[in-house]
Amino acid sequence: MADDRAKKLLAALRDVLSPQHLLVGDDEMAAYLVDWRGQTRGVALCVARPATANEAAAVVRACAECGTPIVPQGGNTSLCGGATPDAVRRAVVLSTARMNRIRGIDRATNAIIAEAGCTLAAVQQAALSADRLFPLGLGSEGSCQIGGAVSTNAGGTAVLRYGNVRDLVLGLEIVLPDGEVWNGLRTLRKDNTGYDLKQLFIGAEGTLGLVTAAALKLFPRPRTRAFAWIGVASAERAVGLLGFAQERFDAALTAFELLSDNQVELAVGHLPGVRYPLEARCPWHVLLELSAARQDAVPEGDLVAALAEAAEEGRTADATIAQNEAQIEGFWRIRHAVSDANLAHGMSVTLDIAVPTSEVAGFLEDADAEVARRFSGAEVLIVAHLGDGNIHYIVQYAWDRWKALPDPQTVRSEIFARINDLAMAHRGTFSAEHGIGQKLKGEMARYRSPVELRMMRAVKDALDPRGLMNPGKLLPD
Ligand SMILES: Cc1cc2nc3c(=O)[nH]c(=O)nc-3n(C[C@H](O)[C@H](O)[C@H](O)COP(=O)(O)OP(=O)(O)OC[C@H]3O[C@@H](n4cnc5c(N)ncnc54)[C@H](O)[C@@H]3O)c2cc1C
Repeated sequence: MADDRAKKLLAALRDVLSPQHLLVGDDEMAAYLVDWRGQTRGVALCVARPATANEAAAVVRACAECGTPIVPQGGNTSLCGGATPDAVRRAVVLSTARMNRIRGIDRATNAIIAEAGCTLAAVQQAALSADRLFPLGLGSEGSCQIGGAVSTNAGGTAVLRYGNVRDLVLGLEIVLPDGEVWNGLRTLRKDNTGYDLKQLFIGAEGTLGLVTAAALKLFPRPRTRAFAWIGVASAERAVGLLGFAQERFDAALTAFELLSDNQVELAVGHLPGVRYPLEARCPWHVLLELSAARQDAVPEGDLVAALAEAAEEGRTADATIAQNEAQIEGFWRIRHAVSDANLAHGMSVTLDIAVPTSEVAGFLEDADAEVARRFSGAEVLIVAHLGDGNIHYIVQYAWDRWKALPDPQTVRSEIFARINDLAMAHRGTFSAEHGIGQKLKGEMARYRSPVELRMMRAVKDALDPRGLMNPGKLLPD
């Protein structure tokens, strides 16, 4: 960007934001210019930190007047470089962290209105203090923000029961790319008044506008929950156990996660004082949670009976049932430690694929054979939201092995191409819940049909004709 335009924009932004919320120095901007894993880096003209939707709209308007691109950023936990600016455009990074008020909770409507910068954990907490549940649960919930979760249509561990963010949003407040504010913060369950515009912004990764607040669904707070850590002999058995559990528990089945044994071992090793959860070593681990809103429901008793039946039928190899809430939290801690554990251990090439549940075992067999054939020295770790057919297929290299590879970036691209090809061949997708960002744009070009891409571009051109919102993300160049 020409220097005089940059100066003009900075002057306009100084009218909106005080100096401590308009960051221009390299050191103060550094944390905003790199992604969570340290894999994507960029540059920016400045980082703007508005505190209200009006301030955010003024920032967007000033950028629009100068033709400067904007990269919206929430908790910066994107796993596909979605919130990181690129290395050439000198965009304005718009951080929503200060827009963090809960605007209201309506218990009768079962709705909460949260500003974009509220962390997911803060929204969960606000719901609990009103005796309600906001059911979205992610490993990043302490840092990721509602605006980011909406913009990536985040999923997580309770999608099986409550759906992903798309199912949880009732309304949105959006700053459009020209700075106009659309107040769509309705909390209605039914509203058939034309196109459902909010859906366009969910999962749009900041390419169509800035989410400044969201009206979200709440649910009765579960009064009882039960949790089992179950060892199974194969992924195929785990899929069979999922069907068995769905038949027994129906809507009470809240989570059904699958981990490979080497992944459990890494996570356990990463957490001081934590032991391997089962007595016998098992190749696969299922984490099953039930919950019920009624105090007198007895999911634990039902679970004991069902597990006895499953063991008798040879569906399970070992199992342990959490005895209290602290134990349940302890088991979830192991599950949520996987990303940190993997990062500490080596280079994770993480794929976020989904296939129909019936294809899970076949996909894993094919993918493992492919990795063994082509990527010697790599280990495969599996973390799956099995209830949704969503598999984080992780090709892991210990750091010394990764650094010894002659051309690591080519290896990374090849892993993506090979494994995503297999996911598509098994009637799946190459991005189940993390989005596209910068990382998967090539896959968009490769796997999405021309007609789909044409429709997406038409939407982009209609709402952001100058391409100022998060350029270089989601859509292929
Ligand atoms: C340890 C760990 C575990 C994770 N587990 C899961 C999981 O189980 N399921 C899952 O789905 N994801 C998971 N993620 C990915 C990530 O946390 C989620 O996608 C999260 O929703 C991103 O929120 P964020 O606030 O950090 O967004 P950011 O990373 O800041 O941004 C993500 C994208 O949204 C855009 N964006 C951010 N805020 C706004 C806004 N207000 N308006 C418009 N666009 C915006 C950004 O430009 C970017 O494209 C995990 C990440 C980590 C690090």
